[in-house]
Amino acid sequence: MGAYYDEVEIEDMVWDPARKVFHYPCPCGDRFEISRQQLRDYEDIATCPSCSLIIRVIYDPLDYEDDDEIEKSEDETDSESSEETFEDAMEKLAL
Ligand SMILES: [Zn+2]
Repeated sequence: MGAYYDEVEIEDMVWDPARKVFHYPCPCGDRFEISRQQLRDYEDIATCPSCSLIIRVIYDPLDYEDDDEIEKSEDETDSESSEETFEDAMEKLAL
Protein backbone atom coordinates (compact mmCIF):
# COMPACT_ATOMS: atom_id res chain seq x y z
CA MET A 1 0.00 0.00 0.00
CA GLY A 2 1.04 3.63 -0.16
CA ALA A 3 0.66 3.99 -3.94
CA TYR A 4 -2.09 6.57 -3.67
CA TYR A 5 -1.90 9.72 -5.69
CA ASP A 6 -3.37 11.56 -2.71
CA GLU A 7 -5.43 11.20 0.43
CA VAL A 8 -8.65 13.20 0.47
CA GLU A 9 -11.19 13.78 3.21
CA ILE A 10 -14.74 12.91 2.22
CA GLU A 11 -15.70 16.48 3.18
CA ASP A 12 -13.45 17.76 0.41
CA MET A 13 -15.14 15.61 -2.23
CA VAL A 14 -18.24 16.67 -4.15
CA TRP A 15 -21.47 14.66 -3.89
CA ASP A 16 -23.20 13.91 -7.18
CA PRO A 17 -26.82 13.05 -6.27
CA ALA A 18 -27.67 11.96 -9.81
CA ARG A 19 -24.98 9.29 -10.01
CA LYS A 20 -24.78 8.71 -6.22
CA VAL A 21 -21.01 9.08 -6.15
CA PHE A 22 -18.55 11.36 -4.45
CA HIS A 23 -16.01 12.80 -6.85
CA TYR A 24 -12.75 14.71 -6.75
CA PRO A 25 -10.78 16.28 -9.61
CA CYS A 26 -8.07 14.10 -11.14
CA PRO A 27 -4.95 15.74 -12.65
CA CYS A 28 -5.72 14.02 -15.96
CA GLY A 29 -8.85 16.18 -16.37
CA ASP A 30 -11.34 13.49 -15.36
CA ARG A 31 -12.29 12.81 -11.77
CA PHE A 32 -11.92 10.21 -9.07
CA GLU A 33 -15.17 8.59 -8.04
CA ILE A 34 -16.37 6.48 -5.12
CA SER A 35 -19.96 5.42 -4.59
CA ARG A 36 -21.92 5.33 -1.34
CA GLN A 37 -22.17 1.59 -1.85
CA GLN A 38 -18.37 1.35 -1.76
CA LEU A 39 -18.19 3.54 1.34
CA ARG A 40 -20.74 1.35 3.06
CA ASP A 41 -18.65 -1.69 2.17
CA TYR A 42 -15.68 -0.04 3.96
CA GLU A 43 -13.86 0.61 0.71
CA ASP A 44 -11.77 3.77 0.77
CA ILE A 45 -10.20 3.82 -2.69
CA ALA A 46 -11.62 6.23 -5.26
CA THR A 47 -10.60 5.47 -8.83
CA CYS A 48 -10.38 7.60 -11.95
CA PRO A 49 -12.01 5.94 -14.98
CA SER A 50 -9.63 7.67 -17.42
CA CYS A 51 -6.23 6.90 -15.89
CA SER A 52 -4.66 4.52 -13.40
CA LEU A 53 -4.43 6.97 -10.49
CA ILE A 54 -6.23 6.24 -7.24
CA ILE A 55 -6.82 8.24 -4.09
CA ARG A 56 -7.55 7.15 -0.56
CA VAL A 57 -10.72 8.61 0.90
CA ILE A 58 -10.67 9.53 4.57
CA TYR A 59 -14.12 9.01 6.07
CA ASP A 60 -16.00 7.42 8.93
CA PRO A 61 -17.62 4.16 7.76
CA LEU A 62 -20.15 4.44 10.57
CA ASP A 63 -21.70 7.41 8.74
CA TYR A 64 -22.67 5.12 5.86
CA GLU A 65 -23.62 1.95 7.71
CA ASP A 66 -27.37 2.69 7.66
CA ASP A 67 -27.49 3.36 3.91
CA ASP A 68 -29.28 0.06 3.29
CA GLU A 69 -32.71 1.51 3.95
CA ILE A 70 -32.18 4.43 1.59
CA GLU A 71 -31.19 2.18 -1.30
CA LYS A 72 -33.98 -0.30 -0.63
CA SER A 73 -36.69 2.35 -0.64
CA GLU A 74 -35.30 3.76 -3.87
CA ASP A 75 -35.39 0.31 -5.47
CA GLU A 76 -39.02 -0.08 -4.44
CA THR A 77 -39.89 3.24 -6.02
CA ASP A 78 -38.17 2.17 -9.22
CA SER A 79 -40.04 -1.12 -9.49
CA GLU A 80 -43.34 0.57 -8.71
CA SER A 81 -42.90 3.11 -11.47
CA SER A 82 -41.94 0.43 -14.00
CA GLU A 83 -45.04 -1.56 -13.01
CA GLU A 84 -47.17 1.51 -13.61
CA THR A 85 -45.61 1.96 -17.01
CA PHE A 86 -46.42 -1.65 -17.78
CA GLU A 87 -50.05 -1.20 -16.69
CA ASP A 88 -50.35 1.92 -18.83
CA ALA A 89 -49.09 -0.03 -21.81
CA MET A 90 -51.62 -2.79 -21.14
CA GLU A 91 -54.43 -0.23 -20.95
CA LYS A 92 -53.42 1.22 -24.28
CA LEU A 93 -53.39 -2.25 -25.78
CA ALA A 94 -56.90 -2.90 -24.42
CA LEU A 95 -58.18 0.28 -26.02
ZN1 LIG B 1 -7.41 10.53 -14.08
